[in-house]
Amino acid sequence: MTILSRELRKKLSATFSIRSLQLIDRQECFEDACENPTEKILLKLPDDEMIESVLIASSDRMTACVSSQVGCPLQCPFCATGKMGFQRNLSAGEITGQIYALNDMVSAKKSGNKVTNIVFMGMGEPFLNTDNVLEAIDTLSTKNYRFCLSQKKITISTVGVIPEIQRLAKSGMKTKLAVSLHAATQQKRESLMPIAARQYPLKELGKSLSEYTALTGMPVTIVYMLLKGINDSLDDAKMLARFARTFLCKINLIDYNSIINIKFKPVYSTTRDMFQQHLLMSGLHVTVRKSYGTTINAACGQLATTATMNCNNL
Ligand code: SF4
Repeated sequence: MTILSRELRKKLSATFSIRSLQLIDRQECFEDACENPTEKILLKLPDDEMIESVLIASSDRMTACVSSQVGCPLQCPFCATGKMGFQRNLSAGEITGQIYALNDMVSAKKSGNKVTNIVFMGMGEPFLNTDNVLEAIDTLSTKNYRFCLSQKKITISTVGVIPEIQRLAKSGMKTKLAVSLHAATQQKRESLMPIAARQYPLKELGKSLSEYTALTGMPVTIVYMLLKGINDSLDDAKMLARFARTFLCKINLIDYNSIINIKFKPVYSTTRDMFQQHLLMSGLHVTVRKSYGTTINAACGQLATTATMNCNNL
């Protein structure tokens, strides 16, 4: 940029950096009846830490599932990222850089195609890195900036970090909220998500979600992963219905995606149908989310950079 003075250029390069994340690996798999593959992408950050992201194609959208942290400190026992431990938060620039990198891959395959939706469901708990996540969303959704995506096309998925749910509600942002519940009793939730559930008890979480929906007028998506013999009984469904009836929400049932050396098992489809049926009969809006990318370990709970996984001997 020779139109700038040498002195200013020196100052700019000492203060800022323009670095893209480096593509290290890319794996793909084809889902039934979908002509575009699900892709898992390994990216290297400027300090050599690695993150994984996933591109999920469907007939009318291209969703980028992105990471907000390297690893995760919350150690949910069913999750491969939790097994990695926590390295650090991503900066706002690294989060936007991750999405730019994914978008470049999408448009390189077919000109004119782009990322249409973003979900913060990759590695890490976004609400333990809220400043950077919200700054990135602001950049990505600002008119006349490069990306300019509606905030309604962006979802933050949290385990239920109550103060940050309140912060999002008051922020005026139109970003959608998903909460990983996985159990509707305090005791069971503590066994599945010990750190998060103890710090943010179910009763207070329910209250904060009622306040969130009252303030924003937007529903919350309750994500419930069915685990065989653990949270899949009729009683579990009844408890979930009781919890979910107190605020505006839809429930997303997801299957457990197996991870090597972890004891949990997915439910049979008949159990899932019974569970869903009970929730529907209770007047709730329920969908079953299809898992994408299980064969390349790209589905929910399966993300973990291989180098760290090997270190932890998973
Ligand atoms: S499920 Fe989410 S919060 Fe729990 S360890 Fe995995 S990434 Fe962290």
